[in-house]
Amino acid sequence: MTARILVVDDVPANVRLLEAKLMAEYFEVLTAEDGPSALEAAASQAPDIILLDIMMPGMDGFEVCERLKADPKTSYIPVVMITALTDTKDRVRGLEAGADDFLSKPVNDVALFARVRSLTRLKVMMDELRVRHATTGQLEFSESGGDDAAEGHILLVEDHDLMAGKITEHLCEAGHQVTRAVSGAEALERSEAADLDLIIVSLRLAGEDGLRLCSQFRSHDATRHVPILLLIDEGDLQELAKGLDLGVTDYLIRPIDKNELLARVRTQIRRRRYHDKLRSMLDKSVSLAYTDPLTGIYNRRYMDSHLDRKIMEIGETNKPVSVMMLDIDHFKQVNDTYGHGAGDEVLKGLAERVVGGIRDFDLLARYGGEEFVVIMPSTPADNALMVAERLRKRLEREPFAVSDSDEPLAVTASIGVATTLDANETAEALLARADKALYQAKNAGRNQVRSADLAETPAQEEAKSAAGGA
Ligand code: GH3
Ligand code: MG
Ligand code: MG
Repeated sequence: MTARILVVDDVPANVRLLEAKLMAEYFEVLTAEDGPSALEAAASQAPDIILLDIMMPGMDGFEVCERLKADPKTSYIPVVMITALTDTKDRVRGLEAGADDFLSKPVNDVALFARVRSLTRLKVMMDELRVRHATTGQLEFSESGGDDAAEGHILLVEDHDLMAGKITEHLCEAGHQVTRAVSGAEALERSEAADLDLIIVSLRLAGEDGLRLCSQFRSHDATRHVPILLLIDEGDLQELAKGLDLGVTDYLIRPIDKNELLARVRTQIRRRRYHDKLRSMLDKSVSLAYTDPLTGIYNRRYMDSHLDRKIMEIGETNKPVSVMMLDIDHFKQVNDTYGHGAGDEVLKGLAERVVGGIRDFDLLARYGGEEFVVIMPSTPADNALMVAERLRKRLEREPFAVSDSDEPLAVTASIGVATTLDANETAEALLARADKALYQAKNAGRNQVRSADLAETPAQEEAKSAAGGA
């Protein structure tokens, strides 16, 4: 994953050093040597990440960060502050100014790339969400909500009691929920049971390989996408590189700085949240495109393409395709008498009943307001007529319970059926024939079935006399 990085430092040698390191890893690098030009570059060049030095003459890094975060055009760009190793005060101020993460001077390569990659991933997701949000409009998503939503459920795998106690305290203070495990086996067991937002793993577990545990988390379904923070010692950089390859998302070096811990945790949890949000938006938009929101069955658009496919397949299967068009009788009266809500309940109930009465490979779709279509592959006209007649009777026999009426509502439907064995007949033409048969059923008094392809059948005779007797 590549990214465009803005490096801000007033010392040209520092800028060039970072630039060289980043370019060697194929990042695109922009530079600025003071606050105002950094703000200018951030606004005009839309970098993916900003590496920001704190000590600069004139406008210092804190002020630059505050301004970046205050401007909606730049507020979403992650900012990594470059601080002196020992200066805790700077980190606190950086956090207050809205910094997303820290790097200590002199900048270590593994740290630099871990930070940059981690924040780039987060930003890519946020960008995608923002685009989706802009295009769909209807799905609520607040950018600033990212921060308040950054409390999560964290699994801490650390066998050292004192260390675990301290980390847990920091995390709980920040509103997180922490579950602790002291061994790999316990961690795996707990991770199966919980919906985790983050896993923190100590590389130094007594008698265990922390990296192996990370790779197990990566291969299990429940934790595959859960970010992992590795706790390491200064001397573990070699192993860290392996960990990052295995899919560890970020790391912290002991002794653990509270602010650094909270900043990393926040970044990872936000990333996890965005990821989930993207997923569910994606699922939603896919199902929105194909289904009818009221009844949950397929919509007309999906039905059209499905029917085209089924008719085309006649060329290979040489089996007839039938369609049934069903329209509720006097449905307007249901609405007028019992209210629109009751009407909706009838539509839902009817869809359920029809689904229960057709085969798995038949397809039910809502065609319009109170009109439904059933597509029946491999079904000749007489079978289709039988199925339609069975449905009609079932509706007639069982009235619909609705919440606003003590009495269940008697609802009937008229059905037109059409069948084709011609792979060249269009879906539109087939549906038009079914619609015409439906119209005949309505004209003949409703609550009956007509076929576009068959003269009267015994079933239909029976239907007629039933309707006449009702
Ligand atoms: P017919 O027997 O001739 O089909 O009479 P009808 O009253 O069923 O037909 P008409 O086409 O006159 O009216 C259809 C009614 O369906 C009118 C409309 O308000 C209602 N309708 C359409 N979509 C919905 C819906 O989603 N919910 C509810 N409750 N009613 C709907
Ligand atoms: Mg109707
Ligand atoms: Mg109608």
